[in-house]
Amino acid sequence: MLLNGGLSVKRHDYIVVGSGFFGAVFAQQAKEAGCSVLVIEQREHIGGNCYSYDYEDTNINIHKYGTHIFHTNNDDVWRYINRFTEFNRYQHRVLTTHQGTVYAMPVNLGTINQFFGVKLRPDEVETFITEKGSREHLDSPANFEEKAISMIGRELYEAFFKGYTMKQWGCSPTELPASIFNRLPIRSSYHDSYFNDRYQGIPIGGFTPIFKRMLEGIPVETGVDFFRDREHWLGRCGKLVYTGPVDRYFDYEHGRLNWRSVRFEFDRHDLEDYQGTSVMNYADPDVPFTRIHEPKHLHLEKSHTPNTTVTIREYSLRDNDRPYYPVNGDADKAMLAKYREMESAEEKVIFGGRLAEYKYYDMHQVIGSALQKARKELSDREKRSASIST
Ligand SMILES: Cc1cc2nc3c(=O)[nH]c(=O)nc-3n(C[C@H](O)[C@H](O)[C@H](O)COP(=O)(O)OP(=O)(O)OC[C@H]3O[C@@H](n4cnc5c(N)ncnc54)[C@H](O)[C@@H]3O)c2cc1C
Repeated sequence: MLLNGGLSVKRHDYIVVGSGFFGAVFAQQAKEAGCSVLVIEQREHIGGNCYSYDYEDTNINIHKYGTHIFHTNNDDVWRYINRFTEFNRYQHRVLTTHQGTVYAMPVNLGTINQFFGVKLRPDEVETFITEKGSREHLDSPANFEEKAISMIGRELYEAFFKGYTMKQWGCSPTELPASIFNRLPIRSSYHDSYFNDRYQGIPIGGFTPIFKRMLEGIPVETGVDFFRDREHWLGRCGKLVYTGPVDRYFDYEHGRLNWRSVRFEFDRHDLEDYQGTSVMNYADPDVPFTRIHEPKHLHLEKSHTPNTTVTIREYSLRDNDRPYYPVNGDADKAMLAKYREMESAEEKVIFGGRLAEYKYYDMHQVIGSALQKARKELSDREKRSASIST
């Protein structure tokens, strides 16, 4: 215990900044290992960007920061997360609207046949795209546009990727690296499930109960920004686990890392079903939003208020104060390397999660990373205390 102006202030083995998946998993593991942990969170709720809640009087569970589908191939992560929730059998499929017609995404044999009005077999796709789809072979495509055209041809690129990518990134696809296109699957079969992972679903009851269960028995202070009293928190812990933005931790000494952000508009409708699916993309540049989410479709196991649905329109923007997706340009990479160097001098701090690592992580990846870092830290801690007592 420390004495502070006559008040006793409890010290903790770990203070965790942020209650998203990285912070919650780390805190849960530390508590389970017998350590004392405190979590502080600047928002008024736990769960980070995975936070979900029931929309007023509808029984419709909303993912406040965008639709989240859990998927993984990692048995360790799957076993771990199942300690805290059951999953429904939701399988994610994405549709896209282009010039008033709805197509299946990712681009697959069904999309290609529908778009060109043909009946190709899988082994005919390559030749067809080269001859009819205006494909231009390039040995080393220099940007997203060149890569896309060399893979799927100009026609499919212009219909499904050009406008959508411009809206999403706020710039021409010629300004984006070719590597971004590599992340988008293109299939010559009718397979239209978005993810190929062995395990997939939505937690029954939504995501927030997972965090409540993980943080059971751990004090959590919400509405608390670490930077309002950094020295106070550092003075109260053996080690700090920091899951906020890395550039903010170092007072932007080397500049600000760039982030793409999103903005959501919520609407309630007196309708049973607005669009018949959980996520509808809008590929055309004259539609200002990128997609519409309709969350009731994520929970087919659940009954909702009749004749009621909620939709969420998603708009993309650049906003470093509301970080969602790292831009990861060359200047960002150089800046990040300098922050990484500064981190190595912070022996009392463990940096983790998407904001601190400036990395796009899916949930299973951030859980895997938190488990790995927590297990290493807790085993090192045990060794440290064993060497002190011998
Ligand atoms: C739109 C969108 C959709 C996504 N969909 C999927 C999906 O379908 N499937 C999937 O697997 N993944 C998805 N993800 C990724 C998923 O959101 C992340 O993997 C996950 O949220 C990362 O957890 P985290 O703990 O690293 O970060 P976060 O969830 O952001 O948690 C960090 C926490 O730290 C808090 N914090 C920051 N600074 C401070 C401070 N100074 N003081 C106190 N607290 C602080 C923040 O308020 C926040 O709560 C999606 C991401 C986005 C942006």
